[in-house]
Amino acid sequence: ETAATPSDDPAETLDAVVVGAGFAGMYLLYQLREQGRSVVVFEAGADVGGTWWWNRYPGARCDVPSMEYSYSFDPDLEQEWNWTELMAGQPEILRYARHVADRYDLRPDIVFETTVTSAHWDEGDRRWLVTTDSGRRVRARWCLMATGCLSVPNTPNLPGLDEFAGTVLHTGRWPEQWPDLAGKRVGIIGTGSSGVQAIPELAEQAGHLTVFQRSPVYTVPANNRPLAPEIVAEFKARYPEIRDRQRDSVSGFLGPAALRRPKPRAVEDRGRGGDDTGTPAGTAQPERTRSGLLDLSEQERREAFDRNGPGAFMRFRDVYLDPEANEVACELFRREIDKVVEDPAVAEALKPTDYPLACKRQVLDTDYYRTFNRSDVTLIDLRHHPLQTITGAGVRTEAGQVELDVLVLATGFAAMTGALSRIDIRGRAGRRLSEAWSGGPRTYLGLQVAGFPNLFTVTGPGSPSVLANMIVAIEHHVDWIVDCIAHLDVVGATTIEPSPEAVDDWVDHVNEVADDTMYTAPNCNSWYLGSNIDGKARVFMPYVGGFGRYRRHCDDIVADDYRGFVLDAS
Ligand code: FAD
Ligand code: NAP
Repeated sequence: ETAATPSDDPAETLDAVVVGAGFAGMYLLYQLREQGRSVVVFEAGADVGGTWWWNRYPGARCDVPSMEYSYSFDPDLEQEWNWTELMAGQPEILRYARHVADRYDLRPDIVFETTVTSAHWDEGDRRWLVTTDSGRRVRARWCLMATGCLSVPNTPNLPGLDEFAGTVLHTGRWPEQWPDLAGKRVGIIGTGSSGVQAIPELAEQAGHLTVFQRSPVYTVPANNRPLAPEIVAEFKARYPEIRDRQRDSVSGFLGPAALRRPKPRAVEDRGRGGDDTGTPAGTAQPERTRSGLLDLSEQERREAFDRNGPGAFMRFRDVYLDPEANEVACELFRREIDKVVEDPAVAEALKPTDYPLACKRQVLDTDYYRTFNRSDVTLIDLRHHPLQTITGAGVRTEAGQVELDVLVLATGFAAMTGALSRIDIRGRAGRRLSEAWSGGPRTYLGLQVAGFPNLFTVTGPGSPSVLANMIVAIEHHVDWIVDCIAHLDVVGATTIEPSPEAVDDWVDHVNEVADDTMYTAPNCNSWYLGSNIDGKARVFMPYVGGFGRYRRHCDDIVADDYRGFVLDAS
């Protein structure tokens, strides 16, 4: 690796520094090289893949169909790669990332196990000076943050955690060599997407599993299955059309609608973005009806749920917008739990009651509720028996002590801003990004920050990012950034940054489209709002207006001579 990486000159000068080698960093490297630019990528992990390199916990898999959760930039890559399951597991996605790195010979320009610690704008040089924990210093015109929205695990400040004599594992930092859990007493804290995926698998592996649940989750069956060869073949034959529809859709993927023949739309409807039902983006079911749940009779609602299972609520737009419709859906959802969970007290404890459906990222599962029928799985409801302390022997709650050999933290991430806030980023006049964002992140389009010229954030806060199929969102941002860089060369500009007014307007718009949705309901506390991190400003971070609409907005801005950006040729 070292032989092929750029030299260790104390201040070598390159065109661009990319931070992170997940799907965003890899694609940036590919595109910048295509433009003939000199680039170095720094990656804290030991290989490519980002999320899929770090999150190796049992049960980890994507919840967007793999035929759609994959790169589209090279038709040959699309044709040669074969996904085996509807929603691929972590090992398969990591193999895919490695295949991409090998196929395009990306590794020589990636420096692994190296963390970027600072990035300072040098006004005189009009470049970024980027420093790593290995002492490497690179000057670059472009500083491209591909640091990930969910790459910094959140370890809550649990009293006594350091005292625990057993093994503590975080789902977001699962070891490459899986620990042998056979016969072990395993506890898990956290019932978000990671916990819900891990719990059925941990129950299989462990001697006994205790689930410490603070907030019950609304989770619906993933219905994962092997991919039939004829489905793969049809996708491959129709990829160009399917990709176009993805890019125009609300959430960047089509789901079950992907292989349906699209109905021709009225001319005035074209390009308005996806199913355009007015439903916010970011749910696991991209297909929605214009009708409301409240339009149906009680009997029809029940039939809809009986026919389609607990995921039925996702089809009704009023569930996302109207608290009354939402509560009707919640009640039907809770009824589904009673159908599966045998012990009524356990079923009751698993029912969410104090926050709405569709306020948090929709969780998909495989056999989650059924797992609680096992005699070797215990649920502790922390709402009724709060956690008191971790001890050397296990976890003590108000219900007593549970002795454990292993404690798994499925406690999520310092989402969207966590990785950026760990880097000492200073823009014009030495202003720190942490200071500029002290009241919450402020960007233009999730791409740039006022006062931080030539610094781009891929899928940054203020863009659809985590509310979309992320690979589609990543490709869009990377293409936009490299086109922008090329444009600057053409017009002879050296820097680009948004005007403060453009940032203000965009932040207002991001807030406006999120207002009056379940995402910002007063009783919603999600990582989208930063609520999972103590002291973090309560600000809704992603753009909920829909991926297709956002993409068109970005295109319009470019067509209007980069409206809202300041290009400087001095
Ligand atoms: P990442 O994959 O997070 O990569 C960022 C990289 O930057 C990391 O490897 C990190 O080590 C590195 N880095 C950060 N800071 C520094 C630094 N200072 N110096 C050096 N390196 C640094 N999205 C979907 O669309 N569908 C899904 O089904 C889905 N499932 C997910 C499941 C899990 C368990 C998680 C955690 C996320 C999931 N996501 C999903 C979101 C997922 O993060 C994205 O889909 C995508 O993989 C993000 O790619 P990225 O390159 O932007 O970021
Ligand atoms: P998460 O959604 O933030 O869930 C964290 C869980 O830990 C919650 O149940 C939370 O409870 C609990 N928790 C946190 N601190 C706690 C404390 N001090 N005491 C008790 N419980 C505590 O994190 P995640 O599950 O890792 O998921 C994060 C995101 O990653 C997802 O939303 C998704 O975008 C992505 N992801 C996707 C998949 C997939 O299916 N493709 C899988 C994993 C992750 P509260 O709710 O009460 O705070």
